Amino acid sequence: MAKLKPVYAFEEANSKNRMLLGGKGAGLSEMTRLKLPVPPGFTITTQVCNQYYDNNRKLEKNVIPEVMKNITKIEKKTGKKWNSANNPLLVSVRSGAAISMPGMMDTILNLGLNDQTVLGLAKKTDNPRFAWDSYRRFIQLFGKVVFGVDDEKFDHILNSAKKRQGVTDDSKLNLDSLKKIVSEYKKICNNHTKRKFPNNPNEQLQLAIEAVFKSWMGERAIVYREKNNITKNIANGTAVNIVTMVFGNMGDDSGTGVVFTRNGNNGKKEIEGEYLINAQGEDVVAGVRTGKDISKLKIEMPKSHRELSNACSKLEKHFREPQDIEFTIEKGKFYLLQTRTAKMSAGALVKTSVDMVREKLIDKNRALTRIPAQQLEALLHKTIDQNKIKGFERFVKGIAASPGAANGIAVFDVKRAIAMGENNKKVILIRQETKPEDVPAFFSSEGILTSQGGKSSHAAIVSRGMGKPCIVGCADLKIDYENNRCVANGITVLEGEPVTIDGSTGVVYIGEVPTVAPQVTKDFQTILSWAKSAKKLGIRANADTPDAAKLARKFGAEGIGLCRTERMFNATDRIGLFVDMIMATNESQRNQVLKKLGQLQKSDFVQILKAMEGYKVTIRLLDPPLHEFLPNPEELMDRIYKNKKGENLSQTKKVLERAKELAEINPMMGHRGVRVGITYPEIYRIQITAVFEAAVELSKKKVNAKPQIMIPQVGSIAELNHIKEIYDDVKSKIQKKYNTKINVNFGTMLEVVRACLTSDELVKTAEFFSFGTNDLTQAVFSFSREDAEGKFLPEYMEKELLEISPFQSIDVNGVGSLMKIGIKQGRAIKKDLEIGICGEHGGDPNSIRFCHLSNVSYVSASPHRIPIAIVAAAQAAIELK
Ligand code: PEP
Ligand code: MG
Repeated sequence: MAKLKPVYAFEEANSKNRMLLGGKGAGLSEMTRLKLPVPPGFTITTQVCNQYYDNNRKLEKNVIPEVMKNITKIEKKTGKKWNSANNPLLVSVRSGAAISMPGMMDTILNLGLNDQTVLGLAKKTDNPRFAWDSYRRFIQLFGKVVFGVDDEKFDHILNSAKKRQGVTDDSKLNLDSLKKIVSEYKKICNNHTKRKFPNNPNEQLQLAIEAVFKSWMGERAIVYREKNNITKNIANGTAVNIVTMVFGNMGDDSGTGVVFTRNGNNGKKEIEGEYLINAQGEDVVAGVRTGKDISKLKIEMPKSHRELSNACSKLEKHFREPQDIEFTIEKGKFYLLQTRTAKMSAGALVKTSVDMVREKLIDKNRALTRIPAQQLEALLHKTIDQNKIKGFERFVKGIAASPGAANGIAVFDVKRAIAMGENNKKVILIRQETKPEDVPAFFSSEGILTSQGGKSSHAAIVSRGMGKPCIVGCADLKIDYENNRCVANGITVLEGEPVTIDGSTGVVYIGEVPTVAPQVTKDFQTILSWAKSAKKLGIRANADTPDAAKLARKFGAEGIGLCRTERMFNATDRIGLFVDMIMATNESQRNQVLKKLGQLQKSDFVQILKAMEGYKVTIRLLDPPLHEFLPNPEELMDRIYKNKKGENLSQTKKVLERAKELAEINPMMGHRGVRVGITYPEIYRIQITAVFEAAVELSKKKVNAKPQIMIPQVGSIAELNHIKEIYDDVKSKIQKKYNTKINVNFGTMLEVVRACLTSDELVKTAEFFSFGTNDLTQAVFSFSREDAEGKFLPEYMEKELLEISPFQSIDVNGVGSLMKIGIKQGRAIKKDLEIGICGEHGGDPNSIRFCHLSNVSYVSASPHRIPIAIVAAAQAAIELK
């Protein structure tokens, strides 16, 4: 194997190379180059870690000699001596991958201590107690990390020693006790390993380095990487940093702390954090002792506080990012031990972006690209109050389907949910799944939880459209409608008991967890205005109601990319009529009901078009199969069987018969979309009429309305032309009736595979295209969009067969290829053809990048995701210039 340079002293490393040095190593070397006070040290590269694994868990021969050369360099810099009984050099051995994985890998402190050097440390510091305390901490950490000794065994000895001496605090243990503890700790290690505890610092160092490399493949670290999507191109192996020990626990002129250069919660320009006097770094991080607010350091140690402030501003200026810093003060001397980009809340990211542009630290492009667009979601919804979550029991976890937190009482029945909501009770609707006929209950519920379904299931899409928190596919949740209760993980929740759902994480809690209100601040508006000028893609909304349209405008939507007309039939005053329409036994009966529905729909269109004045509104004709609007046959049979008071038995029997007639084995590929329009033309006719009449009415009122009509589930030009004939017929009638010209575009969805492949034919009739990426993904994978995410997709991801659900982020290779064909063929015939996407992917930053690259005209997302889409589109435009 090629001999690579395995070790870099902090001053000689190229600190830009985080992949090689890891984040911690890069930060330490950068600070050293900036002449900030960093204890001398060096980094063993991530390449050495990879070689270690390639080599069957053995270090290459040149590694240890290089390490020892660098130890000699440190000796020269510090005047201390390795393995010295007078002035010993001690080091820390710290892991550090290219991306921070807090607490996932191992660190060893005070390495180099043994029975001789401990005496040297005691002499040099004139503090034997400190020396022996450091020694016992070292053996414990080393024993745990290198030998895998159970921490409890050490704790047991420590506790007995405290008892023996009659003290409760570790810091009160006297020298004798500490010496005894050291000898007992060693015995534990010797018993565990059947060998003597290594006394030689060289051996200690080699074992520690190997242990850090091993921790890269430890279970904790593997799971963390999996959960956080840390792939090899993000972080490949860990580096090891060997750093001269400096001690914050050498008395009252010593201390240690962790700070952010700006407030991580609200973004204010102030140093935020905590410190402890006479303590080691781990005490602050582990929260063993409660730290003091950093502002107090100014009074306690003014010189160190000054040095800290200077270091903070120097580092911020250099990295052009707020930093997260660890420092130690040893006998009045200030040291920096770590710096990295501060992880901040969404609100803080927004504020610091705007502030740093004003301070001329960064430009607007950087201000936009440094914000993970997805994180902005937290600012648009109620979120769980993290400060108050303690003490609330976690109930179960499902798929996070619509963000935001909501609390309320559990209700398992649609009718009861409606009644309770109308009585001002806060309700969480809990169902196995939902159907269009359940939608009235969505309006009266704070949030929705289902045990089945995925991100593009009915419950998920409707909730997102309404901006209601929703969790779906909660497979561990067993709902018992019969007894009005649900059970998961051995916990039972009865109807009426309080629960909280977090639609951003998928977690359900028992009880009413407090929430925090959304915060659309002035700074957020500023970021959005910068993003709007930077982006190229159009951003439209998926909105089906006047309220959703207004909200979408408020958030900056430039039109509606998808108005699902079936939603309008779900409102409480319409669903009955719609059922009557389905139940009609002849055409004239059906037409009568449809007329009424048409009037209602027209008034909705008028309001939506008004709210979107000046912008296009794409109105999609009816898509779901008719049986979705009827109750389940099982439920109807149950009602007939129970025959409760008030039940109209003969009517219920009729509905059952119709429901059975319309039932399908595979409804997602069944009698829906354009197929309904072809077999029940009167439905599409009435909907087209409603659109035209709304347009005429608004034009009379001088409102600039721009509706366009879109047909779902089209697979052939013959289907599209069939509906176009109805459209043309209605158009000429209405034009005649009102003696006016109507200008409403006629287009098609591309959501059937064949539609993408024959887009060159469809474009002859269609005036615009819109990709329905939900159905397209379902078709391309042959994965049911209702079930896949709740059934086998999690295992696919666990087994790395898929990195992410294709229902969440566009599958570029498969679905993306089809989209490219659709676009290319369409634009070859109509160069400026408008092509959008309106599946759930329209709000996903990675899918938005793909759309930007593929010259899609616009993406359409639910109203609450519009700001994310705007920022993600701007990021794509900036990064993919
Ligand atoms: C789609 O299939 O992507 C789409 C937008 O339509 P729906 O989700 O309503 O089927
Ligand atoms: Mg669809």
